[in-house]
Amino acid sequence: MAKGLLEGKHGVVFGVANERSIAWACAKACVEAGATLTFNHMPGAQEKRVKKLLEELPGSGLIPCDVSSDTDISAFFNTLSQEHSKVDFIIHSVAYAEREDLQGKFLNTPRSNYNLALDISAYSLTAIAREAGPLLDNGGSIITMSYLGAERVVPHYNVMGVAKAALEAGARYLAADLGPKGIRVNCISAGPIKTLSSSAIPGLRQMLKASEQTAPLGRNVTQEDVAGAAVFLASELSSAITGEVLHVDGG
Ligand code: NAD
Repeated sequence: MAKGLLEGKHGVVFGVANERSIAWACAKACVEAGATLTFNHMPGAQEKRVKKLLEELPGSGLIPCDVSSDTDISAFFNTLSQEHSKVDFIIHSVAYAEREDLQGKFLNTPRSNYNLALDISAYSLTAIAREAGPLLDNGGSIITMSYLGAERVVPHYNVMGVAKAALEAGARYLAADLGPKGIRVNCISAGPIKTLSSSAIPGLRQMLKASEQTAPLGRNVTQEDVAGAAVFLASELSSAITGEVLHVDGG
């Protein structure tokens, strides 16, 4: 249905860990819509797994990048610029919190773990947007992944909820800064989906059950539901949408 929508566009995808990653579904949908892509992988053990997955998307680029390192982010875009003179969209689908902070009380979050979660899950969007600047300068779309825990208290989501609130606010400020260059910045707030990251949340089963029972559509969302919204936000169909949080959660 989206065939041709992203023809001639080059996108960057941060956050593929395995075939269940939301970023992976987004990537496949973008390629189906005509885009070519460059991916990051976490330096180390993940490289082999991501490389294997990319065999399904021949022609894709792969560059290491730990988003908690400014040096890595800068090197990522330097390497990318040697192959591509422009980037049309960026999908930021990255988050991290220590497992022990996704249980018990938010009150007990240590300062260092709080900083770590906000650094990787929220600040990285700002660093990426800044470093990508020259490649995106003639327009483009930045998309990041959020969750309802940014807006409301969701049991166990704790410091990640605070990080998502910072991510959403950051996206609005970035939209204001980059709007004059024609660059759009939007969040997708996805319903709960079982992935590597979400499996670290002890309450995931209850989150899935609650969302199935209360969402008007009466079902949980899939990675492919999120991917459809990502293709829309990467495309010209969303040309006047920026600073927005698009809920893809069954309502
Ligand atoms: P996932 O585990 O597949 O993806 C998370 C990615 O973050 C992984 O690829 C991991 O390598 C990457 N990452 C973590 N620390 C990093 C670092 N320092 N540098 C570079 N990469 C790093 O899980 P997912 O569920 O697909 O998560 C993708 C995004 O979607 C996250 O932002 C998550 O919070 C968000 N989200 C997930 C759900 C859900 O229920 N799964 C719901 C709403 C939003």
